[in-house]
Amino acid sequence: MASLHPVSADFAARARIDKAAYEREYAESVRDPVAFWDRIGRRLDWIKPYSEVKDVSFDARDLHIRWYADGELNVAANCLDRHLATRGDKTAIIWEGDDPAQSRRISYRELHAEVCKAANLLVNLGIGKGDRVAIYLPMIPEAAVAMLACARIGAVHTVVFGGFSPDSLAGRIADSGCKLVITADEGVRGGKKVPLKVNVDEALQRPGTNSVETVLVVRHTGGAVAMQPPRDRWWHALMEGQPATHEAVAMNAEDPLFILYTSGSTGKPKGVLHTTGGYLVYVSYTHECVFDLREDDVYWCTADVGWVTGHSYLVYGPLANGATTVMFEGVPNWPDTSRFWQVVDKHGVTLFYTAPTAIRALMREGEAPVKKASRASLRLLGTVGEPINPEAWEWYWRVVGDGRCPVVDTWWQTETGGILITPLAGAIDQKPGSATKPFFGVKPAIVDANGAILEGATEGNLVLTDSWPGQMRTVYGDHQRFIDTYFRTYPGMYFTGDGARRDEDGYYWITGRVDDVINVSGHRLGTAEVESALVAHPKVAEAAVVGYPHDIKGQGIYAYVTLKSGEPATDELRKELVAWVRKEIGPIATPDQLQWAPGLPKTRSGKIMRRILRKIAENAPDQLGDTSTLADPSVVKNLVEERLVK
Ligand code: ATP
Ligand code: MG
Repeated sequence: MASLHPVSADFAARARIDKAAYEREYAESVRDPVAFWDRIGRRLDWIKPYSEVKDVSFDARDLHIRWYADGELNVAANCLDRHLATRGDKTAIIWEGDDPAQSRRISYRELHAEVCKAANLLVNLGIGKGDRVAIYLPMIPEAAVAMLACARIGAVHTVVFGGFSPDSLAGRIADSGCKLVITADEGVRGGKKVPLKVNVDEALQRPGTNSVETVLVVRHTGGAVAMQPPRDRWWHALMEGQPATHEAVAMNAEDPLFILYTSGSTGKPKGVLHTTGGYLVYVSYTHECVFDLREDDVYWCTADVGWVTGHSYLVYGPLANGATTVMFEGVPNWPDTSRFWQVVDKHGVTLFYTAPTAIRALMREGEAPVKKASRASLRLLGTVGEPINPEAWEWYWRVVGDGRCPVVDTWWQTETGGILITPLAGAIDQKPGSATKPFFGVKPAIVDANGAILEGATEGNLVLTDSWPGQMRTVYGDHQRFIDTYFRTYPGMYFTGDGARRDEDGYYWITGRVDDVINVSGHRLGTAEVESALVAHPKVAEAAVVGYPHDIKGQGIYAYVTLKSGEPATDELRKELVAWVRKEIGPIATPDQLQWAPGLPKTRSGKIMRRILRKIAENAPDQLGDTSTLADPSVVKNLVEERLVK
């Protein structure tokens, strides 16, 4: 039975939203979404107020999604200018370098000045409204400055994670047709240099990238780089002497803000396009409610700006709310595995948001590195990116939060722009492993294979039956792919691609991607459930489970297991784990094969790529598909060599 963590009375007493408020507002938000989002939309500064709130059809023949469509605003002005009168000296960004000796605080006034200078710079380079700009930077303040400067002049940014290879970068530049690339000499992560400029040079030799006219280079490490005039220009040289004022361009609410490619867990990344007004309304409102934001909070989201979490909940949401946001250049295990908690103490972090993959990695190292830091400032913990195994949830809550901080497990996607299913810490009792309930205005449903909506406690495919302002508007350059991917499977609904279970309390449990569901002798099993059972074993650090062809059962269960540091991989332990899953879930879930995995193939954002594991289990290593977004390709080689059934 899942344990229950009721809302703490202390937390609820001071929370923005308590139980009664959640019930009342949620009912209101789905009963009359136009009135609801009309009211919430006013939290932004509009240059021209909107008169129309929502204009949406999910019908594939007439698909359109428009929010606040006749309004005009500027995202950067909402994130900066409007705070100057009241929060000019407040810290907007706390930058923590890879090197623990380096950090910087940037006030709203300073950030505003930098962004204005950068906006003027971009205009001087001939960049204007609608032009695409690739941002390939480390986690340094210039990344936020570049994003906001694009938003200020109406250019469309596409941020590419600094860990991506020249090929991945080239693919994104070519797909979106960028005129400008903003990069740095080098990045540093975990003490190791990342040759960003060299990667850009290589990428720009690939076919399809000759739309790029200029490469702007931020001097970060000071390492030597080869500049190719006239294409390559130094950021600092061009920033010098730019005026620190700039009049933000009035953008239509439905003008594009950015293109961001999905992680690629299931296939070729999609160029997800988000627009201006609805997106900012949605990310600022969810950020305020989900993190129960207060004026004096120090908020830290550990995601890279190269992921949607970095866009919505490191840059745009927090800055639109006038919050103090921490930007961390480094990695959780450098100089040692206590780093996250040292940073929490150093900057007095109150709200902390990270991914299950990071939690599991830190859990492997035991409690001592956590306990070395006080963490007394923390008051709320969040997670995103994958289903969090209940074991990892409890560890996060008990060890990191000292049993004091609520944990919000937030389910959403690059496509959704912002959080859709999540507890609100003062309102919704938490159950480890469940993302709990829909956010205001969000209408999830569970459908069967034919698209029939299932009621009550049930399990099936997760869809959304109505729009929310932060929804993506198209796949860049391929609107048909947008329609086909999300609106064809179940007519009239947005299909998430994820499976979910809803329990008797109306709580949602994401069971994993629908593509990953295993069908054993006619029983459907979500990968998350079997993996969580394995991770619940004291010796297991991480597990991934896939189906593979099985003569009798149709599909058999193939488990890949990573043990905690120092645990020997023995045949006895293998048998013990198989028996353990059988006992935890039932005979139907008994793994047929269990392979030791020193590492698992993951996307650069830390998500397990089960489609690759499936191909290995099927003994089809020549069909691995697109592996360009893999964090460590060598992991795959090992797994193929050590495959159990040859
Ligand atoms: P691609 O769409 O290219 O295959 P991706 O789905 O990994 O890549 P993202 O948009 O980064 O790209 O990830 C969204 C997915 O992450 C969700 O569809 C879901 O499968 C998973 N996810 C995110 N947050 C949670 C969560 N809190 N609980 C369960 N799953 C989550
Ligand atoms: Mg996806």
